[in-house]
Amino acid sequence: VIERMITKEIKIGNIKIGNNNPIAIQSMTTTKTSDILATTNQILDLEQIGCEIIRVAIPDMESANAIKEIKKNIHIPLVADIHFDYKLALKAIEMGIDKVRLNPGNISDENKIKEVVDELKRAQIPIRIGVNSGSVEKDILLKHGGHPTPDALIESALRHVRIVEKFGYDNIVISMKSSNAIATIESYKKMSKLVNYPLHLGITEAGTEFKGTILSSIGIGNILLDGIGDTFRVSLTGDPKLEIPVAKGILESLDIRRFGPRIVSCPTCGRCNIALANIAIEVEKRVSNINKNLTIAIMGCAVNGPGEAKEADIGIAGGLNEAILFKKGEIIKKLKNDEIVEVLVREVENW
Ligand code: SF4
Repeated sequence: VIERMITKEIKIGNIKIGNNNPIAIQSMTTTKTSDILATTNQILDLEQIGCEIIRVAIPDMESANAIKEIKKNIHIPLVADIHFDYKLALKAIEMGIDKVRLNPGNISDENKIKEVVDELKRAQIPIRIGVNSGSVEKDILLKHGGHPTPDALIESALRHVRIVEKFGYDNIVISMKSSNAIATIESYKKMSKLVNYPLHLGITEAGTEFKGTILSSIGIGNILLDGIGDTFRVSLTGDPKLEIPVAKGILESLDIRRFGPRIVSCPTCGRCNIALANIAIEVEKRVSNINKNLTIAIMGCAVNGPGEAKEADIGIAGGLNEAILFKKGEIIKKLKNDEIVEVLVREVENW
């Protein structure tokens, strides 16, 4: 069991992160935020599959103004991603945003920063300081040999954090995303010893679905394994809907959260005489939304099959064009090839 680092509890709309709250899954829309209908629809699709906090880009006033209308039709907290322009932050807060991602050090005028922090304070909205390896300040880069090293990322993040604290506010979340997994891991591990603020994890620009999934799983997984991280986003190039199953998979792989039954299935080999791959894929698809904490074993033959199937809550071990059904370690009956999927799904439904 992973021992969580306990951080300050922060409220983002109707969700709490930090402390002992569940590690929340985030994503970001790819639509133009000013296109209210497209953005709302994308968020509703993401909610359906388990996205818990959603961020939208706010590059202009039209986008900031769209927040109010978008919020009316969605059910998860909305985060505004803002760079440089303090007026966009003020407008986003006015429109009822649930959290602002903004690096105050990028706003040159201290009075303007104070105005934003005062409004955040008044509305009790958290701010995420989000440092990326691609946008570390020049003077900090110079100090660290010209590269966004973990220490450079930390120094940059803390510089922004201190500005917010200076104006008397500590409703803060921090992220330090690098496209380099090793640098990201080191940054978070060091940072977790320096602050008590919740940490939002991610590997930025992780890439397309396949390689980005691997990079994010290793990077984010490694940090979570140390008990660090209160929320995270898997960043993949493409439809944001790709990100949610990966995020859920990371949490399930580490036994941190569970979103449906766990499926143990063998890779098959020359001993397998049933269509095991199809059976496993079909069962996984059909039970993925059944929120029950049980393990299903789908094994190809009698070598490891009965052993795994007995350890699981429900399981099958393949034979010659048939399979044996096990429940809680007991042999229940023989199943014909074409009834395996239906029986397993029914067993899960009735569990
Ligand atoms: S359970 Fe049987 S079929 Fe599956 S990989 Fe092991 S030996 Fe092969």
